[in-house]
Amino acid sequence: MAKRPPMPPKKTNNFLRLSLFWVLLVLGVLATIAILSPHENLTTVPLSSVIERANNGEIAKIEVQGNELKVTPEGSEEATEKSTKDASSSLQEQGLNPDADVELTISEPSATGDVLWNLAIIIIPVVLIAAFFLFMMRQAQGQNNQALGFGKSKAKLYGEDKTKVLFEDIAGNEAAKQDLEEVVDFLKHPKKYENLGAKIPKGVLLVGNPGTGKTMLARAVAGEANVPFFSISGSEFVEMFVGVGASRVRDLFAKAKKNSPAIIFIDEIDAVGRRRGSGMGGGHDEREQTLNQILVEMDGFETGTTVIVLAATNRADVLDPALLRPGRFDRRTNITLPERKDREAILKVHFKKKPVDDTVNLDKLAAKTAGSSGADLANIANEAAIVAARRNSKKISNKDLTEAFEKVAIGPERKSKVMNQKDKELTAYHEAGHALVGHVLPDSDPVHKVTIIPRGGTGGVTWFLPPEDTIYTSVYEFKDILARALGGRIAEKIVNGEDGITTGAGSDLRKATEIARDMVIEQGMGAKLRDQVFHEDNGGMVFDRMTHERPYSDDTAKEIDAEVAALIKEAARRAEIVLKANMPSLKKLADALLEEETIEEDGVVELLKDATLPKEAKLYS
Ligand code: ADP
Repeated sequence: MAKRPPMPPKKTNNFLRLSLFWVLLVLGVLATIAILSPHENLTTVPLSSVIERANNGEIAKIEVQGNELKVTPEGSEEATEKSTKDASSSLQEQGLNPDADVELTISEPSATGDVLWNLAIIIIPVVLIAAFFLFMMRQAQGQNNQALGFGKSKAKLYGEDKTKVLFEDIAGNEAAKQDLEEVVDFLKHPKKYENLGAKIPKGVLLVGNPGTGKTMLARAVAGEANVPFFSISGSEFVEMFVGVGASRVRDLFAKAKKNSPAIIFIDEIDAVGRRRGSGMGGGHDEREQTLNQILVEMDGFETGTTVIVLAATNRADVLDPALLRPGRFDRRTNITLPERKDREAILKVHFKKKPVDDTVNLDKLAAKTAGSSGADLANIANEAAIVAARRNSKKISNKDLTEAFEKVAIGPERKSKVMNQKDKELTAYHEAGHALVGHVLPDSDPVHKVTIIPRGGTGGVTWFLPPEDTIYTSVYEFKDILARALGGRIAEKIVNGEDGITTGAGSDLRKATEIARDMVIEQGMGAKLRDQVFHEDNGGMVFDRMTHERPYSDDTAKEIDAEVAALIKEAARRAEIVLKANMPSLKKLADALLEEETIEEDGVVELLKDATLPKEAKLYS
């Protein structure tokens, strides 16, 4: 087991003390010189008195030094008094009798005191400035050598027992764990493979949506194999200065090789590993250099060093083919979104240390959270604890869980947002329109909840949830989704007239258009353009996309637009037929919404029990 590198000692305090010591020393020396310099204990007397006494013959000697006078009275051995004179006039001009019996000596002013003072004025700021700069430099070095060690990788080293993750800490993800067991074995027993002439794989690509546990799995591989784990994110290689990325890659690989066997984990590899483009614009030189350096390092592993690079991405399709070549990231592990039973297991992991009461039903929550990643589920668990804590409860209840789930899925309720009655009625009919169309059409998911309380930026929400996880979506299902998405806008038209439509349907229409385009372009589900896809590769950089030809003709582009428009029209027609045939049910649901604001699944079923599916809205019999 590798040891964490020792932390550099805290230099800042020592250095401060040292600087202070030097400043005090210099000040002390200057003060000593000033104290030791000769000075006399003379009484100050007014100049007029000195002149008067000199004229009277009471003064033996006057020493003039600049403007300073030292006075020796008659009968005294040395000067006992001092005085000052005006700089512009001599003593005679001040009234001293030129015939007075006094010994007058005139000399230049002493410079000793001034020199000392001037010296202090120069030295002290120099010492202070030097100390300040030294302090700043040390400070900069102290922060992980950032100023001087720019080209060093910022990889974090894990591998100590307390941060260790094992496979058993990861719920679900069985297929990925099985794939990675092999990597653990390579790291634990490299000899076994080398003896048979097998090359240990160098790179494994972990492909999966964000939050599906790729980082956790990589750390678990290190934990299981008991080897150090160097983690860095692809974006950390790319800095403002050219060459820094490549230098960081060299440093990272050097560190890992020194600690071999070891794991390097590069998160978001697509930040540096995107397909190398046309070179137009010259903007991605730095990225390419970094990528090249990664390839060079991976090729250069000598036999005997067991360093395995795990890299995570959610966009494997945009990676440079050179990265995926044999000998580099030639192994790939797909990490899928968790299925229902895995979601329950993940929820259990995250609720293990949280006190819950008997009402909590994790299985039901798992059923409702199709499409959520592990990180989403961890987030729901955390939100539930926050909700419970805010109501000052000691345990988490199922109600907290539902609130947390809805908050994460569609944003928090905005009860404080006041709607006027007109908007409220419109929202009620809009949501009732979605719910009624969805409820009646045979291939739509059931309504889970309808509310006219604003949530996460919308006026209201109608929520459909699949009763179970599905893998595929049929044309019929897509068409029902389109119709129910348009149900809101059509309900507005029926109630307010053709021009009574509002911005309330903005996001519905965007979503419907996206689905319709996806059906035609990606899924080959157009009426005429069936079984043909028109996928545009938009993984490259902007310049590459501009230079790439669209893979279909202008006529086909027109055809695609016509197909999308036809799908939307058909959906609007079906929604209108359903709503017009069931006006009493629509009104009943809208009124109930105005009254209660939120209606759950059972309530919706009860209110819409008389609604029927007209023959004209059917796609099949
Ligand atoms: P990724 O690297 O794929 O974006 P992470 O590994 O950082 O995802 O996972 C984020 C968080 O989600 C983890 O810290 C963990 O709390 C939670 N999580 C994800 N998958 C699982 C799982 N299978 N079991 C338990 N927790 C999980």
